[in-house]
Amino acid sequence: MLVPFTSFKVMHGGIRDELISGFESVLDSQWFIMGEQLKRFEEEYAKFCGTKYCVGVASGLDALRIILMAYGIKEGDEVIVPSNTYIATALAVSFVGAKLIFIEPDIKTLNMDSKLIEEKITLRTKAIIVVHLYGRVVNMDDIIKIADKYNLKVIEDAAQAHGGYFKENRVGNLGDVAAFSFYPGKNLGALGDGGAITTNDKDVANKAYSIRNYGSNKKYYNEIKGLNSRLDEIQAALLLVKLSKLDIWTKERREIAEKYYNGIQNNRIKLPLKAKNDENVYHIFPVFCDERDRLKDYLISNGIETLIHYPIPIHLQKAYSELKYKVGDFKIAETISREELSIPLFIGMKDEEIEYVIEILNKFR
Ligand SMILES: *Cc1c(COP(=O)(O)O)cnc(C)c1O
Repeated sequence: MLVPFTSFKVMHGGIRDELISGFESVLDSQWFIMGEQLKRFEEEYAKFCGTKYCVGVASGLDALRIILMAYGIKEGDEVIVPSNTYIATALAVSFVGAKLIFIEPDIKTLNMDSKLIEEKITLRTKAIIVVHLYGRVVNMDDIIKIADKYNLKVIEDAAQAHGGYFKENRVGNLGDVAAFSFYPGKNLGALGDGGAITTNDKDVANKAYSIRNYGSNKKYYNEIKGLNSRLDEIQAALLLVKLSKLDIWTKERREIAEKYYNGIQNNRIKLPLKAKNDENVYHIFPVFCDERDRLKDYLISNGIETLIHYPIPIHLQKAYSELKYKVGDFKIAETISREELSIPLFIGMKDEEIEYVIEILNKFR
């Protein structure tokens, strides 16, 4: 049996006609940037997250970058990020010239270890970026407490966790402001690039509306130096269709994850500590093995595709060589990059595919 890492076949097959009519309505409107579709999507997505505002932008990286710009975070400031996140979180901080302060994750949850944050806070610290990595929602209680104590902004990098909850509130509404990505492979994905910012803070929302559009809220009147980073009408129309299915898709992801948790039983393969049902949207299902590369080869020889998230931690990436970190500086992030393997989990995955992945994993010696 061949099991791909991911597939859009069933996901998009079920909404093909709606996607086509979404495209046609933009084609017929003859309006392609900053129109009705974007406005509708921003309203719907804010409602979905439970926030007052949503600002559509061109990507998740830009969402983070625009948030930092809106807060005026700049050279000389420090921003706390997890050591094991995707590089985009760090790149946004670098683009505004601020200093990255890496915090190691808790190996059981893979999210930033809140006990390690306080000792890294200085007078220059301005914000904490929490990342709901792999779709598992960060325990926000401790983070908010620290942020309140030191007057820091809490920014969610929610690129992997659309629709998740922490207690009563949805991801996107757990801190001061949140950044989403609609990269096609994300839980809510466009058919191209896209992103959004959600917040209850009117000032940040207004600045973000302006920054994404050249620093202008009135055509040809520019108050600040902005970017061109807009979510176009076609992507907004397609995202509206997909948003209406997101809760059903999240439920399906949780059912697949449940089967993996119940079925995978091999002491060579470790699974992360299971989160409460609402607190994981299973963007990625990671497993851990001290012979990860051999496990990956074994799976591919049995027809099962996997990916590694992520093979090189940020502090050891060539792009960050100027920080002069070395092997051993962030040991938990390094262990994860050595042992992590993401197994197939996608909408429309058949029971026999799930069972086959479990069977082959359980036979690994
Ligand atoms: C995908 C991702 C981003 C960046 O989103 P893009 O839309 O690709 O720019 C940022 N942070 C995390 C954690 C991501 O997974």
